Amino acid sequence: MSDSAFHYVDGVLHAEGVSAASLAEQFGTPLYVYSRDALTQAYRAYADACAGRNATVHVAVKANSNLAVLNVFARMGAGFDIVSSGELARVIAAGGRAEHTVFSGVGKSAAEMREGLEAGVKCFNVESIPELHALNEVAKSLGKKAPVSLRVNPDVDAKTHPYISTGLKSNKFGVAFSDARATYAQAQAMDHLDVVGIDCHIGSQITEISPYLDALDKLLELVGQIEADGMRIRHIDVGGGLGITYDDETPPAIGDFVTTLLDHIGKRGHGAREVYFEPGRSLVGNAGVLLTRVEYLKPGEEKNFAIVDAAMNDLARPAMYEAFHRIVPVVKRDAAAQTYDVVGPVCESGDWLGRDRELALVPGDLLAICSAGAYGFVMSSNYNTRPRAAEIMVDGERARLVREREEVEQLFAGESILPD
Ligand SMILES: *Cc1c(COP(=O)(O)O)cnc(C)c1O
Repeated sequence: MSDSAFHYVDGVLHAEGVSAASLAEQFGTPLYVYSRDALTQAYRAYADACAGRNATVHVAVKANSNLAVLNVFARMGAGFDIVSSGELARVIAAGGRAEHTVFSGVGKSAAEMREGLEAGVKCFNVESIPELHALNEVAKSLGKKAPVSLRVNPDVDAKTHPYISTGLKSNKFGVAFSDARATYAQAQAMDHLDVVGIDCHIGSQITEISPYLDALDKLLELVGQIEADGMRIRHIDVGGGLGITYDDETPPAIGDFVTTLLDHIGKRGHGAREVYFEPGRSLVGNAGVLLTRVEYLKPGEEKNFAIVDAAMNDLARPAMYEAFHRIVPVVKRDAAAQTYDVVGPVCESGDWLGRDRELALVPGDLLAICSAGAYGFVMSSNYNTRPRAAEIMVDGERARLVREREEVEQLFAGESILPD
């Protein structure tokens, strides 16, 4: 949680200048709360380190695709990294520009390629030979040339959770390093493709720089070979993946991370190429919290449970990756703490938000689940026919509803029953 954006004033958690208790009162719970200032500071850390260095930032939309969040970045001149045409539509609706948008993703459909080409995206990050053929065909049908970069799988261990490690041979992502040169040659031979770059994305929640440097060394070696084959690699996209502090992790600071990578590329003699960064989590993760209210306390022989009104459908990360999120009281209470598992009302044993947490609680208390700005709301579902939470953006003393809480009727509005 960004300490400057989220802090206590007289024992009450505040988001910037607004009390979290008053937000819960006004907008109900569960409630996602984002800080504009925290978003701005994280983006600035990237942008400032890139300034004057032929490097650009493409915000990974999938980490948090709320229009207000994307708009904060768009206003600061960000580019975007998308993985679907739905995300492209969000970028445009939020004031972003297609020509500053990179289209990633392992399974783009022909319809998505068409939408991307018609909108004029900056580059397609392609992950296989069949996808190259498909993109070539779509571009041909539109009388265009598609700008292409190949996502190369450098086969490095990002030392993160297996579900969010993407740069190993065993992952579904990217073109195998050993096939990359030949795949580039195939792309070059297609009339409606224009090879412009190379990319990789080795995983997420990475807390060390060394896997990036290992990946870069492999990519740069390949760049030399590809250029010897007559193609020009104008940009190197290093992907996203920089980790944040959820608990006691100590990832490199954003500015140090950017500078180290750019210096490394420069030292290897590739300083003239444009470098793209595709951060998601490190921009939005600690800019958001999820507020929830304690419904019931359920003491037990082995465990005490605090049953709260947020659940795995609101924040999937604990159930999905056993991810840790700090959980803090919205109003600090002077009472003896007990150990609780903080769980939701969904009918699954996997529906927990935090285990073995020391908290002083009574029913009705508000809790903040920290570091919930990335892969939080975007992964939420309607499981158990639970309407999705509202989202709020705080900006100084003001709080604005940036997504309405869903109504139950909306959830089955597109459904129908048989006529007889
Ligand atoms: C998910 C993703 C990102 C962002 O990853 P973070 O870990 O959130 O920084 C960047 N690029 C690609 C291709 C992705 O799939």
